[in-house]
Formats: sequence, structure tokens, C-alpha cells
Amino acid sequence: MLNLFQYPMKVAIIGAGFGGLASAYKLAQGGSDVTVFEADTKPGGLAIGFKEPKWKWTIEKHYHHLFYSDWAIRNLAEEIGQELIYLQPKTSTYYHGKIYQLDTPMSLMKFTALPLRERIRTGAVIAYLKMIRDWEKLEKITAKSFLTKYMGNTSWKVLWQPLFEKKFGNYADEISAAWFWTRINKRSSSLGYPKGGFLAFAERLDTVIRKNDGKIFYNTSVYKISEENGKITITTGNGKYEFDKVICTLPTPLFLKMAVDLPINYKAKLSPLKGLGAINMVISLKHQFLEDGTYWLNINDLNFPFLAVVEHTNYMNKEYYDNAHLMYIGNYLPHNHDYFQKTDDELFGIFYPYLNKINPKFRKSWINNIYVFKTPFAQPILPLNYSKSIPPFVTPIQGLYLSNIQQVYPWDRGTNYAVENGLEVAKLIIHD
Ligand SMILES: Cc1cc2nc3c(=O)[nH]c(=O)nc-3n(C[C@H](O)[C@H](O)[C@H](O)COP(=O)(O)OP(=O)(O)OC[C@H]3O[C@@H](n4cnc5c(N)ncnc54)[C@H](O)[C@@H]3O)c2cc1C
Repeated sequence: MLNLFQYPMKVAIIGAGFGGLASAYKLAQGGSDVTVFEADTKPGGLAIGFKEPKWKWTIEKHYHHLFYSDWAIRNLAEEIGQELIYLQPKTSTYYHGKIYQLDTPMSLMKFTALPLRERIRTGAVIAYLKMIRDWEKLEKITAKSFLTKYMGNTSWKVLWQPLFEKKFGNYADEISAAWFWTRINKRSSSLGYPKGGFLAFAERLDTVIRKNDGKIFYNTSVYKISEENGKITITTGNGKYEFDKVICTLPTPLFLKMAVDLPINYKAKLSPLKGLGAINMVISLKHQFLEDGTYWLNINDLNFPFLAVVEHTNYMNKEYYDNAHLMYIGNYLPHNHDYFQKTDDELFGIFYPYLNKINPKFRKSWINNIYVFKTPFAQPILPLNYSKSIPPFVTPIQGLYLSNIQQVYPWDRGTNYAVENGLEVAKLIIHD
């Protein structure tokens, strides 16, 4: 029976990344009175994009694509009419001064940097990890021990160690084999990209949320969440607002700082969760850099100051970007690393000689523009038995929920899981 005195539940969502947008979409569609507060000027969070005036599409500040198996975000895209383009770009590895295509069983068999026996073992372990579903026992062993034992020492040293060290820095040896399993199990050769870019996708979500009477405030940083009179109060630069429920999608350290009434024991449990930041340099070029057409180039050389070169326009057509060739130079680093203090020119000065090693023809005169993007929270550290440390959506404060990057597990963080968790926490609130 309809209750005439029922008023719509007032829900605030802090952060308009894909997690916050998915929650806002579901809740607004379900009739809640939804307000999103976002510090940035646009939606998308870590997947936000930018563009030059002449480009038709935006490109992400940090490289992004989807896997075929990313069903939560694929379904959401379909629901709101966002087209996704799936292509099979080339993935390669730079090792000892040479680029090797390394994205099929056949290319692995041709990778002579590994002895034949280890190529076969590596291929067999990848095939096994693709098949199995039971990841729980893998979180009890480190990826390093697992890979050394089953693929072999050379396979670890040549193929995996450089990538682990560049992705996880000092934590490389602590990462569990469950994380490695997800990278193999979920990866698909076909990679998806939203037509127009991830920002276009996020903006379409913004439109659908508003159509369902949701409100989104950009340029609005929340700096305090408190509990007052049985309601959750949010404080921004523009004032204080009361809500029945609040979902915070911010990284854990920011959440712990702003939710001032959280009990000490809860804070103590979440504080040890670790993460790394990321720096991406986007270079707009007059010429193709990876001339063999590689989209993703892993740098398997520990002397290089970056993890990967990702030539976006070897994946998406350069005509969307006024025929510029766009490539990323990617790095994951602790947020106190000195690269975070360097200027764009200083960083380029560090990278340039190494880019030249990859393509000796590369010249500074090829460059149209350089953009550098830095973010302090990009990659959670997933050590042994992380399933025991994941913070739940429900917090000790009634009505306050946490839904962030550190709750994605066993899968590696991604927009798909931000959406999956965002929808899950919305469901939880609706059922509450
Ligand atoms: C280098 C890199 C590469 C990646 N590659 C991929 C990829 O290929 N595919 C993929 O699917 N995913 C990828 N990801 C991961 C993906 O971007 C994230 O998992 C996902 O975007 C997280 O979404 P979220 O909504 O949980 O959090 P976020 O995107 O972090 O959203 C949080 C939002 O909160 C806002 N905010 C922060 N502080 C405040 C405040 N005080 N008040 C109000 N708002 C605030 C932020 O501006 C942000 O918009 C990558 C990430 C990085 C960094």
C-alpha cells in the first residue's frame, strides 16, 4: 500500500567517479533524492578525460580500456545507450633493446629470451590460470613464489619481475598470486573503449542521473562527514547538508580523515591498507612512435624510468584526435616519490633518452604537446590474505557507507568493479 507520508530517502554520494555515478544512477532511478558532490569540474574520477579544442573525442588522463569480461560496466553502458568499441590491439614487450609481440600462445613460443622449457611451462601455467576459478588458495602464496616455482626462474626474472617491481615498487614481493590470477583470468585479447572516450561515458551517466531528478555539484569538495541528530551531515565550502544516507567513494586515507566520528578501532583497522600513486605523461606527436603498431608496450628493463608505453592511437583511430598520435608514458609510484615534485619538462628530460632507445628515430621535433597527470591514489597493494582485510561497505556509523577502490577484490581495480560495487552498495541502501 502506498504510504502518503513516505518521503524520498535523501542520499549523498561523495565522488563522481564511475563508482559514485553508478550508485547515483541506481538510487535516482529507484526514486531516492540523490545529490552527488564532486571536487573536480567534470565526472569520471581516475578515468576522467581531456581534449584539445580540435579533437572530436577526449582521451583519459591515465590510459584506460575495458576487458571483454567487464560485464558490470558493459551492461550499464548498454542500459544508458553508451556504445563500446571492442578491438584487438597488439601487446608487446621491450626486452634487451628489442620489441617482441607477446600476446598469443604462438608469440610466447617465439620469445627466445626464455629457454624453450620455460616458454612451455609459462604457457601451461597461463592456460591453467585462465581455466581455474578457485582463487582462495592463491592468496596464501606470493606471486613471486608461485611464478618462480611453476613457470621457472628465468620466466620470473625476464617476464614478470620487472613488471611487478615497476607496478608495485617496494611491495613487489608481497603481492599475492591471487592478484596475478585475476590479471590472467579476466584479461581478454579484445579490449573495449567507449565511443567518445570515458569522459563521454561519464557525462552520459550525469545526464541520465539528472533525468531521474538527481543533482550533481562539481567543483564542490567535501571536507567533513559527521553524525548529527541521527542524520549524516556533509560539510563543503558552500555549507552543511543533512542526509539519511551517505556513500563515500574516496580513497580510504581521505575517508578516514573526513569522517570525523568514526571509532578509533575502525580507523586503526583501515589505516594500514596501502596504495601507490600514478604519473602518466601524454605526448601528442606528429608521427607514430611504436611503428610496428603496438598499442601496449611493457618495459621489461629495470633501468628504464617507466613501466609502459601505451600508444592510444595504435588502438583508437587518430582521426578522432585531429590526426595526432597520442601515447602515454606510464608509471606507478609512492606518493612521496620525487617525480611528483618534478615539472613536466624535468620529467620529459628523464624519459627522453629512454624513449630514444625504443625508437632511435624519435626526435623532440615530433612533439605537438606534452601533458602530465599525477594522482596520489591509483593502485591498492594486495598482499597475502587480503580477503581478510577488505573494508565492508557498511561502516560503524549508521547510514554511512564506504565504496572505494580498496574494496575491489580479488579482481584488480578497474572501472568495471567501481560500477559493480557502486550498484551493490546502492542495492544495499535500497533494501536497508
Ligand atoms: C594509471 C591508471 C590506469 C588505469 N587503467 C584502467 C583501465 O585500463 N581500465 C579500467 O577499467 N580501470 C583502470 N583504472 C582504474 C580505474 O580508473 C578506477 O578503478 C576507477 O575509475 C575507480 O572509480 P571510483 O569511482 O571507485 O573512484 P575514483 O575514480 O577515484 O572517484 C573518486 C572521485 O572522488 C572525487 N573526490 C576526491 N576528493 C573529493 C572530495 N573531498 N570531495 C568531493 N569529491 C572528491 C575525485 O575527484 C573522483 O572523481 C586505472 C587507474 C589508473 C590510475
